[in-house]
Amino acid sequence: MAFKLDPEATVNLPCPSCGVKSEQTIATIGMSPRIRCPTCGVLFSVDGKKILKRIQEAQEAIDLQRRKLGH
Ligand SMILES: [Zn+2]
Repeated sequence: MAFKLDPEATVNLPCPSCGVKSEQTIATIGMSPRIRCPTCGVLFSVDGKKILKRIQEAQEAIDLQRRKLGH
C-alpha cells in the first residue's frame, strides 16, 4: 500500500442504518470492504481507498502546517 498511515490509528465511521459512529482501525478499513455496526449489527460497505485517501490528505495538511510552524 502506498499509504503511509499508521494501521493502528482509528477512524470513526458512521453507520448508515443507525448513525452511530464506530471506531475502526486503518488496517480494518483497508482490508475489509464491509464493516459490521457494533450497535445495530448491520453490515455496511465502506470505500476503503476513498476513506484512506481522505485521511492521508488530512494528515498531509497537518504535516504541512507543522512544517510551516517550524516544528
Ligand atoms: Zn448501526
